[in-house]
Amino acid sequence: MLELRGVNTFYGAVPALRDVSLSVREGEIVTLIGANGAGKTTTLMTICGGIQPRGGEILYEGKPIHRTPPNEIVRMGISQVPEGRLIFPELTVQENLDMGAFLRGDRDGIRRDMDYIFSLFPILAQRRRQAGGTLSGGEQQMLAISRAIMARPRLLLLDEPSLGLAPIIIHQIFGIIQKINTDGTTVFLVEQNANQALKIAHRGYVMENCRVVMENSAQALLNDQAVRKAYLGM
Ligand code: ATP
Repeated sequence: MLELRGVNTFYGAVPALRDVSLSVREGEIVTLIGANGAGKTTTLMTICGGIQPRGGEILYEGKPIHRTPPNEIVRMGISQVPEGRLIFPELTVQENLDMGAFLRGDRDGIRRDMDYIFSLFPILAQRRRQAGGTLSGGEQQMLAISRAIMARPRLLLLDEPSLGLAPIIIHQIFGIIQKINTDGTTVFLVEQNANQALKIAHRGYVMENCRVVMENSAQALLNDQAVRKAYLGM
């Protein structure tokens, strides 16, 4: 579904991605783990069209997208939940969700997806008239995920959904990510919380210093000595 081939991205003269290659197959949860500053967010930004790579290719369903503008990439079925959630704090929960559906015209589909979201996160239905900024961190993460789903993606990109959340909320949100996946959405999950991410993923990639240094099934990475030592604190 998604393939990065030898992607090189720079901030000015400073390289941020060096020869990054990875793939996501339809139906999978694939995770990209790595330490602070490894290049995970830059990988997502490059896929979404926020930054243009200077070298390499990004293919989505066989079509090159590395020169495609971000709004067109959303239209093609890729939607991102950014790091730090970035919901609209002044807008209500309902208005935040409406923003997610901005590029869509199918009213019945939008209503169906809204019902789907309220079934995943009943708390958002209760809070639909409340300003987004008044929600707890966990609820804001739920809203950010829901807003991305309102664009009806086939591929959902998530940047550190566990950031700053309590373990019980992380567990709940990762359970929902798994449900979204079994309901038919392919997921690419960037995480520093390698343990949780590898527990729900099918496959994983490890990133260090702007490069992908390891790839394997999530189970094999969970059992790998080097990964356990560096990322699982074992
Ligand atoms: P984190 O977990 O902290 O988000 P990350 O793995 O997502 O880390 P990136 O944010 O992609 O890492 O950063 C990769 C490298 O690019 C780092 O060295 C970082 O300092 C640098 N970098 C990130 N954003 C910018 C920017 N806007 N301008 C210049 N350098 C940047």
